[in-house]
Order: sequence, then C-alpha cells, then structure tokens
Amino acid sequence: MDRLAIVVPCYNEEEVLHIAADALRAVLDDLIAKNKIAQDSFVLFVNDGSKDKTWELIEQEHQTHPTQIKGVKLAGNVGHQFALTAGLLTAKDMADVTVSIDADLQDDVNVIEQMIDKFHEGKDIVYGVRSERKTDTFFKRFTAQSFYKVMAMMGVKTVYNHADFRLMSKRALEHFAKYEESNLFLRGMMPLIGYETDSVYYERKERVAGESKYPLKKMLALAFDGITSFSIKPITLITGLGITIVICCVLAAIYALVSYFTGNVVPGWTSLILSIWFIGGVQLLAVGLVGQYIGKIYMEVKHRPRYNIEKVLED
Ligand code: UDP
Ligand code: MG
Repeated sequence: MDRLAIVVPCYNEEEVLHIAADALRAVLDDLIAKNKIAQDSFVLFVNDGSKDKTWELIEQEHQTHPTQIKGVKLAGNVGHQFALTAGLLTAKDMADVTVSIDADLQDDVNVIEQMIDKFHEGKDIVYGVRSERKTDTFFKRFTAQSFYKVMAMMGVKTVYNHADFRLMSKRALEHFAKYEESNLFLRGMMPLIGYETDSVYYERKERVAGESKYPLKKMLALAFDGITSFSIKPITLITGLGITIVICCVLAAIYALVSYFTGNVVPGWTSLILSIWFIGGVQLLAVGLVGQYIGKIYMEVKHRPRYNIEKVLED
C-alpha cells in the first residue's frame, strides 16, 4: 500500500490551520478506509516563517495526532514556491506519493481521491485544474488568464488553470530534486519532468478564513519569474526589433535621399535622420545579440537535468 503525504505550505494561516488539519485528516481516514493508501499516510504542514501562531498550532495538531500530522518549520519566510519545494523534498523520503495543496482549502479536497485513483492507474503527476473561476473577482480572473496566455506566447509549457494543487509520485519528485535552479516556478518545471500525467477538474472555492497571502505585487513577481526563468524569448524579441529597425533604416535612407535630391528639405535633416535610425537600430541589435549570449549563459548555469530516463531494457 502506498504511503501518501499531503504537503501544505502555510504562511500566517492561524485562522485556517485547524480547519485544514481536520479536513485533510478526514480525507486520509476516508482513503485509508477505502484501502487506497497506507495506514501511516500523513499531512505535512510547512510553516513558511509565519509571524502569527501558525507553528504553535501545527505543534498542537502534531501532539494530538502524532502519526497523521507532521510539520516542517522553515527558519524564515521564503515564499510559497520555496516552502512548497521544502515540503515536497522532505516528504519524498517519507512517502511514496504526495499531494500539494494550499492551507486555505480553496482547492477541492474531495478530488484527492480521483488523483490517487489516477496514480494507481500509473500516472506520475496529476494536475488539479480549475474548471471554473466563478468565485474569483473579475480582476483576478482576467490577470490570471492573461498570465497563462502570455506564458504560452513566450513558449513556456504550463497547464492552463492549474496552480500548485497536484499529485506527484516519488520517482517524479526524485527527478524534480535534480533541478537545482533557485528561480523557482514549479508550474513550469513539472511538465519538464516527463512521465505520464493527467488532470482532475474541480471548482475553486473561496478561502475558508483569513485573507490572501498573494497580493498583486507577489502575483506579478511570480508571473515575471515564470517568464524569465523559462524563456529567453524577451531577448529574442529585442534582437528582432533591432533587425526590424535596421531594415527600416534602409527604407528611411531611400526616403531621405530622394527628399534630399528633390531639394525640399531643411539642410542637415538628411544626415540627422539617417544617423538616428542607423544608430538606434545598431544599438538594439547589439544589445539583443549580447542578450542572446547572456540568455545562453543563464540557461547553462541552471544546470537543469537534460533528460529523464524512464526505463532501460537489458538482460
Ligand atoms: N504561502 C506561503 N508563503 C508565502 C505566501 C503564501 O507558504 O509567502 C502559502 C499560503 O499559506 C497558502 C498558499 O501559499 O497556503 C497560497 O496562498 P494564498 O491562498 O494566500 O494565495 P491565493 O489563493 O490568494 O492566490
Ligand atoms: Mg488561496
């Protein structure tokens, strides 16, 4: 029987901690009763340097339910993506399969069972995908959806409407552990792992209590990180712009010279306008070119694993 770890990053979540612990323990009990996971499956709360009583509450929960509730305390606040990674990599050595979920229970805990079923069918990563965004404000919906579209345009593979509610098998986590990069954008990294994946669908609810720990500023930072960690397309765009302007320069040169010889220009205009176009184009092209090399260096220093061998057939 497979041991499940439900990994929950928590930052200032004192209002929701007990509610989340109860709801997730109920999920464990149900799955254990249905013989789908091992008896010693557990919930792993990761305290991301909370300033409130979150850690004390995790300790309390652990005391009352020592086998079912475990905790990891990070020394300071490192942000959702790092806290989740810390939890997943800790759980990897203690469990056969993990499910990551936010503490606020906005994601539907009832689809964890479907995730486990898909895991038993042989899927290594199962994405929780929001089928609707009814409860989000128009602003959140619009920004989030634009984000997925921009990501796709920039050539980053992500699962549409999937955040960080997902199941991962032990071997998927073992490969994930080889990614040493420190600009983390987990949603972009998971599709790089390979293996068979699947999705389950659910409606995202309101937070059970407390307020969002992801203000617009953090959301934009995450989006920016997502693009710049996975794509050097912005640099390629600059190079493209440089080339376009150099081409425009040739057209501008023809126009300026024709105007010059037909004689209806102010003296000095021709040489000025040509210099502006030419220098502008050459500069952008040069910046873009230098950027291409920096982009390559950036990709190299990540030391990402280049492939993931799933199986070798030998005698
Ligand atoms: N979180 C975290 N560290 C942070 C910010 C958030 O661990 O610095 C956790 C938070 O406790 C929650 C999850 O990340 O479990 C998602 O945050 P939230 O629900 O506030 O984001 P939203 O759903 O509003 O996008
Ligand atoms: Mg939330």
